[in-house]
Amino acid sequence: MSRTPLIAGNWKMHLDHLEAIALVQRLAYSLEPADTDAADIVVVPPFTALRSVSTLIEGDRLPLGLGAQDCHWESAGAYTGAISPPMLVKLRVSYVLCGHSERRALFGDTDEVVNRKVRAVLAAGMTPILCVGETDEQREAGDAEAVVTTQVRAGLSGVDAARAATLVVAYEPVWAIGTGKTATSDDADAMCGSVRGVVGELYDGGVAERVRVQYGGSVKPGNAADLLGRPQVDGALVGGASLDAEDFAVICKAARR
Ligand code: PEP
Repeated sequence: MSRTPLIAGNWKMHLDHLEAIALVQRLAYSLEPADTDAADIVVVPPFTALRSVSTLIEGDRLPLGLGAQDCHWESAGAYTGAISPPMLVKLRVSYVLCGHSERRALFGDTDEVVNRKVRAVLAAGMTPILCVGETDEQREAGDAEAVVTTQVRAGLSGVDAARAATLVVAYEPVWAIGTGKTATSDDADAMCGSVRGVVGELYDGGVAERVRVQYGGSVKPGNAADLLGRPQVDGALVGGASLDAEDFAVICKAARR
């Protein structure tokens, strides 16, 4: 079964809404129909830019998806500073990062919290991008697969097979995020395959075949084609390089298989 690659640009805490509009316009200019036919291309701006970017995508009918970097698991309530899944749906957001390693490390997102977010995003009709990955120490200790397996199992707890098949898992080794170090294409392929294997154990082979597993961690124009050419790698979650329209467009083009 062929899975459509997903290339998502996580802008993190960069760009105000005016800069965001300019970046999306440059990106749209750099992409060709063959790029957006071959892959789902998604931008993931900060919350403050979602409305402007959403309006631009809608108004100009740009073939881009919109994602959010996080959300709360409740629909509404006394959660000062938080953003709920229905609020994102209203802005035509269709993907939400859940458990990005920066959220896990800096904001205390535990596996349980990440699971609540995954379920809330699915319940609202959006697609979670469940981020998993081991630290340097865990890899050195030979625990990479075990760590990622635990994160995938915990993230999908209570998610039924039909919904699990629609989601995206981003394998992002923590040591590769924002560091310029990239997993070898062989390692990325093996770890994405391992994630798919865990999904197969939790559900069945059909779900495992449908779930998309991305690689993330210092994906750049120079390494994208090799990574994206691997059979288990269904796209990329891109941080730093997604802030440059031309670089991100080159990565998107590399997804044409
Ligand atoms: C990320 O933020 O998910 C990421 C992979 O960042 P970078 O591409 O900068 O390593």
